[in-house]
Amino acid sequence: MNRARIKCPTCQRELDWESAPFRPFCSERCRLTDLGAWLTEQRAIPGDAAAAAPDADPQAQPHKDAG
Ligand SMILES: [Zn+2]
Repeated sequence: MNRARIKCPTCQRELDWESAPFRPFCSERCRLTDLGAWLTEQRAIPGDAAAAAPDADPQAQPHKDAG
């Protein structure tokens, strides 16, 4: 039998791929930890949202409609 051995990306612990319900992580905790780190990284990236914004939207003009 050739069992695949993988390493948990979070804690580097070796585990069997077959018997790892949270693969590629060794446990749910490690999975959540990695996911959390990933999300944090995404948020940490300084995004220039204004640079991607197009010119003033013609539909966004303020309309006075006091009737
Ligand atoms: Zn782990």
